[in-house]
Amino acid sequence: MNCCTNLSCSCCESTSIEHFSQVCPICKHQGMLVKNFTVKHIVLDEYLSQVGNEDYFLCTNPECDVGYYKGENVFYKYQLKVPIWLKKDANPKYVCYCGKVTEEDIMDAVLKKGAETFSEVCKITGAMKDCKCEINNPTGKCCVDIVKEAFEKAMIIGKETKDCLS
Ligand SMILES: [Zn+2]
Repeated sequence: MNCCTNLSCSCCESTSIEHFSQVCPICKHQGMLVKNFTVKHIVLDEYLSQVGNEDYFLCTNPECDVGYYKGENVFYKYQLKVPIWLKKDANPKYVCYCGKVTEEDIMDAVLKKGAETFSEVCKITGAMKDCKCEINNPTGKCCVDIVKEAFEKAMIIGKETKDCLS
C-alpha cells in the first residue's frame, strides 16, 4: 500500500511515469533525477540561459557523452564546468567536488602519506570539509559514498603492496 491508495493524491503515479519516460535521448539508459539548481551550477555560464527552471536527469551511462537531459534539452559533457565522475573518461576524476579532491589524492593519502582511517584521509586531502555537494557535485548528492569507496579501494591496494614487500 502506498499513499496513492488515497484517491485525492496521485503523487506516486506521476513519479513512476516520470521516471519511466525519462531515459537518455542518446543512449536510452535510465537517468538519475537532478535538481534544477544543481544543473544551473554545473552547466557552463554560456549555456545557463537554456537551462530553464525544471529539474533534469543525469545520464549515468559511463560510455555516453550526455550530461543532463530533460525532454528536448540536452547538455553534453563539454557544456559542463566539471567532469562527471561516473563517466569513463572523467579527468580529473573528482571524488569530492567541494574540496576538489580526486581519486588519486585519496590513493596518495593512503599509499604515500600513511593514512589508515577514513577521517585521516579526509584530514589529509581536505575531502568532506565544507560540503556543498548539492551544488558542486554533478549528481547533486553527497560525495561521502564515493570518497569511502575510493578509500576502501586504496586500503586494498595498500594491503596488497605490503603483502608483496613482506
Ligand atoms: Zn546517455
